[in-house]
Amino acid sequence: MATECLFREDAYLKSATARVVAARVVEPGGVEPSAGYLELDRTIFYPLGGGQPGDTGFLVRKNGERIAIVDTRKGETHDTVLHLLAAGSDLPQPGETLTLELDWPRRHALMRLHTALHVMSCVVMAPVTGGNIAPDKARLDFDIDMTLLDAAKIEGGTNELIARGVDTETVWITDAELDAQPELVKTMSVQPPRGAGRIRLLRIPGIDLQPCGGTHVKNIAEIGGIRVTRIRNEGRRNKRVEIALLS
Ligand SMILES: [Zn+2]
Repeated sequence: MATECLFREDAYLKSATARVVAARVVEPGGVEPSAGYLELDRTIFYPLGGGQPGDTGFLVRKNGERIAIVDTRKGETHDTVLHLLAAGSDLPQPGETLTLELDWPRRHALMRLHTALHVMSCVVMAPVTGGNIAPDKARLDFDIDMTLLDAAKIEGGTNELIARGVDTETVWITDAELDAQPELVKTMSVQPPRGAGRIRLLRIPGIDLQPCGGTHVKNIAEIGGIRVTRIRNEGRRNKRVEIALLS
């Protein structure tokens, strides 16, 4: 059963109620130790994907018991989300209603860094070969000559765009519309998921437009500014630019 992904419409939801649809002790794909995982009818937790880590937080039972969610992953079928519970937790059973509480400071940092990568990808004019986001840093890999990567220029150019303070927008297009505009896909290693009939794009007016299913800030001014912490050669087609938030 598909999980209703509330974060897609509103990335700022910090809590919500949900009902347990399935509870399993088996771990999906050999991830870190956990008591098992829950499928819920709806969720505010973003599952690992597109370089953005899965959310963490708590679920609260009617009796007040708090159970830590240590990670969130995609399920085997389209649009199912698995919430991994801390090892040693009691596993709530199907039918139980719970309150979800997101680790908001962590997620907000991820949203700011994620959106910053969109902006930076418009300053470094080269194909993106990879990327990753963590709560304290983020990176993009580019297929570019090392001599063309200047930390001060990337930092200055990115912060100049961030200072424009424009609102971000979510746009949906069909698979066919995307096929007609292949230039929208900047990330060579990650093709947007097909088969659902429509694809979600992030538009930063005047700056960027590309397929992305992640969570972003409403206005790029919320990023506050970035610094380039490292530029490194990671291979012939992977020149890595790592950034952190200014504050
Ligand atoms: Zn994105």
